Amino acid sequence: MNFTDLGLAEPLLRAVREQGYETPTPIQAQAIPVVLQGGDLLGGAQTGTGKTAGFTLPMLHRLMAQPATKDARGRVPIRALILTPTRELAAQVEESVRHYGKYSGLTSMVMFGGVGMQPQIDRLKRGVDILVATPGRLLDHHGQRTLDLSHVEIFVLDEADRMLDMGFIHDIKKVLAIVPAKKQSLLFSATFSDEIKALADRLLNKPALIEVARRNQTAETIAQKVHPVGREMKKDLLCHLIKSNDWHQVLVFTRMKHGANRLVEHLLKQGISAMAIHGNKSQGARTKALADFKSGDLTCLVATDIAARGIDIDQLPHVVNFELPNVPEDYVHRIGRTGRAGAQGEAVSLVCVDENIFLRDIEKLIKREIPKEVVPGFEPPSGEKAEPIVLGRMVIGEGAGRGGHRHHAPSRGGSGAPRGGDKRGGNEPRHHDRPRQDARAPAPRTAHGGHVPAQGGNRAAAPAQGGNRAAAPAPARADGNRSGGGGGKPQPRLTQPKPR
Ligand code: AMP
Repeated sequence: MNFTDLGLAEPLLRAVREQGYETPTPIQAQAIPVVLQGGDLLGGAQTGTGKTAGFTLPMLHRLMAQPATKDARGRVPIRALILTPTRELAAQVEESVRHYGKYSGLTSMVMFGGVGMQPQIDRLKRGVDILVATPGRLLDHHGQRTLDLSHVEIFVLDEADRMLDMGFIHDIKKVLAIVPAKKQSLLFSATFSDEIKALADRLLNKPALIEVARRNQTAETIAQKVHPVGREMKKDLLCHLIKSNDWHQVLVFTRMKHGANRLVEHLLKQGISAMAIHGNKSQGARTKALADFKSGDLTCLVATDIAARGIDIDQLPHVVNFELPNVPEDYVHRIGRTGRAGAQGEAVSLVCVDENIFLRDIEKLIKREIPKEVVPGFEPPSGEKAEPIVLGRMVIGEGAGRGGHRHHAPSRGGSGAPRGGDKRGGNEPRHHDRPRQDARAPAPRTAHGGHVPAQGGNRAAAPAQGGNRAAAPAPARADGNRSGGGGGKPQPRLTQPKPR
């Protein structure tokens, strides 16, 4: 299959050629015809599959085919709205819209919190065809009557599962109440929990269901490796790996913001250029870090999970888990940053004895053992015992149950799970102990090898396999300092920190 076979307008094909894409990815090959015909779509696909072009190209085609009715002042109304969970993803998607729409004559804008409203108001006043936004700031504009969504023809909910994880469900419902009832709706999600199914039922009308690459499958193009290492040697091992392998673009994950900051300090002292990206950083700092990293000026970008969501760097060669995530699904997301769209990538995890429990859960989830390789000079000290890992007010990990300290977390203010992070878009902690992904995840697919279900054509309902995770504890909001919804269920196996 070729892009020219899909019936896209020539200005779009030209832009695609300029991007250097030769063939459509599976999600593109399947989604583009559906969206071109005006149908609703439920897409089971995660970032890295090419889903952005999968919905953006046909969206642009449809908008180009029917020119906008301008208002009395000659301004175009907002005709397409794309909602994303994080600022980074919003920026990323809008950049893609601009690239793919370069010759379309259509305009776009990105809108998120953490930056001034006035420039956004000024931009809106000039007229915009396609708006990419995070929900909080979108609703702020709506509340201030600086935004008119009454002409939206196409509505996209991107990474819907992550939006729910982040407590955006109420905001999503508010947005749905604002946009016109008659519109084309597309919902993308990597998982299909009951909440996503309920949302899909509410939003979508006889959607086509397209799924590619099961969420918990790690792409074959990513070489995974574990370096067992002593707890105190991790920083030096990371420097050693970067220097001895001459790595120039490494995305490094830590569990916590302060861990990211401390690691950056260490890397800088060792002469390795590094910056942290997390919810405590200003939007300006986050944007600059990402831009420097993408341009190759920055060797090391140190990120926490939510902050890294949506980061899309073509052919990112190295991802390092400086600390393993306590939520095993996050491992799949993290290493999905490398080896994108068929490129080769390498994901390396530095694992100390405290994290063996996380490693076991990850291997169970991805259904394979990750090769272990001790780096000479960085062997884990013999006899090193697992220590509990403190995440905010929680203690988790291999050592958490020692000395009878493993017990259920007391409920806090009745909400069960604590909210992580800070007000301004924090991203931690999330807990290892939420209910596990179960065996009823969407049916296995080959990586990038999805298919429209055998029933063919459109299906009214979300996938039947259903619920593979319960609501996660909600990290704080990514797009401003509004309080999120969420809350969670009581967390088993969490303990209060014991004095260290
Ligand atoms: P996405 O899943 O939309 O975040 O896209 C992941 C990456 O794949 C982005 O870097 C895109 O530029 C790239 N990409 C999208 N479509 C194609 C394609 N057909 N061929 C090669 N790369 C692509």
